[in-house]
Amino acid sequence: MNNSTCPNCHTAVRPTDYYCFNCGRNLKPAAKSTSTSSQIVLYLKSIILPPLGIWYALPYLRQNSQKAKIIGVVAIVLTFLSLAIAFKLAQDFMTTLNQQVNDAVNLYNF
Ligand SMILES: [Zn+2]
Repeated sequence: MNNSTCPNCHTAVRPTDYYCFNCGRNLKPAAKSTSTSSQIVLYLKSIILPPLGIWYALPYLRQNSQKAKIIGVVAIVLTFLSLAIAFKLAQDFMTTLNQQVNDAVNLYNF
């Protein structure tokens, strides 16, 4: 795919342009890199920043390539897994905390 001219009006455009300045055509739906390193970065973002992972993954789902779509799905699954683990840890922590508070209260009641 050659981005140096607009496929619609054949005006010269920069390869980095997302839209043709002449006719406004969308030159590329923000082609996402599917390299191993960008996958690792995306997956790490999904795990470390769970809600934001979805925001980073959605552009991959909009890509035409099957590989990019799979990467997006994997990132979203990782995001939800990370969220679930975070909730579980928080729940366990609260349970432990409650238990300790109850123990302390019981200790002073008797
Ligand atoms: Zn154009």
